[in-house]
Amino acid sequence: MKTIVVLTGAGISAESGCNTFRDNNGLWRKHRVEEVASPYAWQQSPQMVMDFYNERRKKLFDAKPNAGHTALVKLESKYQVEIITQNVDDLHERAGSSNVYHLHGELKKARSTVDPSLIYELDEWELKMGDLCEKGSQLRPHIVWFGEPVPMFEKAVEIAKTADIFIVIGTSMAVYPAASLINYVSRGLPMYYVDPNANPIPGNENMQIIKEKAGVGVPRLINLLLNN
Ligand code: NAD
Repeated sequence: MKTIVVLTGAGISAESGCNTFRDNNGLWRKHRVEEVASPYAWQQSPQMVMDFYNERRKKLFDAKPNAGHTALVKLESKYQVEIITQNVDDLHERAGSSNVYHLHGELKKARSTVDPSLIYELDEWELKMGDLCEKGSQLRPHIVWFGEPVPMFEKAVEIAKTADIFIVIGTSMAVYPAASLINYVSRGLPMYYVDPNANPIPGNENMQIIKEKAGVGVPRLINLLLNN
C-alpha cells in the first residue's frame, strides 16, 4: 500500500466556518494573532488569551467537517493516509480520518502550566481562570504559541519521509517549521497543492497546483487518486 502524507492548514477548515489565520473576519481583527497567541500575552493578559481561545472553541463546537475533510477519509480505502495538520480544530478526526498529527496543539484540550504532560480533554467550550490541573496550577490552552517549541515536529519529519505522494491543502506555507516539512519529502514524488491562492514553491517545480477551495479541489483530487 502506498503512503500519502497530507499537510493541512487553516484553509481546509475555512468552509466549515473556522477563520483562517490572516483573514479580516471575526471578533479578533483588532489584534494581530501573533500578539494573542504568545507566552508574553499569557503572562501580560491571561484573560484576553483565554477569551480569544474560548471564542474560537465555542465556534468549533458548532462547526462541522466539510467536503475537503470527508474526501480525505475516502482515500484510506486505497492508501495509508497520514495527516499532519497545523490546525488546532478536530475536524479531520470528526470526519473520520485515522491518523492525524497536530503540529500546533488542540483547541479542545487544556494543559497544566507546571507539568506539560498533564493534558485534559475539554467537553465544553469555556476554560476559566481558576480552572486547575491535579497539581493545583492554572490550566492553559493546549496550543503551541508563537515562540514556543513544536514538540510534534520530529514525528512529523519522520512521517514526511515515508511519503510516496505528498499533498498540501489550505496553507500559506508561511509558518515555520511546518512549512519546511516539504524539504523532507523525497525528491521527484507526485505532489499536489490545493489552495485558491497557491503559488509554486521554489525547489518543488513538479508540484501540481490546484487553485480551488478545499471543498471542491480536494474531492476532485481524491477521485483522481482513487481511480488511478
Ligand atoms: P494561513 O491563514 O496562513 O493560510 C490559510 C491558507 O488557506 C491561505 O493560503 C488561503 O489561500 C487558504 N484558503 C482560504 N480559504 C480556503 C479554502 N476554502 N480552501 C482551501 N484553502 C483556502 O493559515 P496556515 O497556513 O494554516 O497558518 C498557519 C497557522 O494558523 C497555524 O499555526 C494554525 O495553527 C493556525 N490556524 C488554525 C486554524 C484551525 O485550526 N482551523 C484556524 C486559523 C489559524
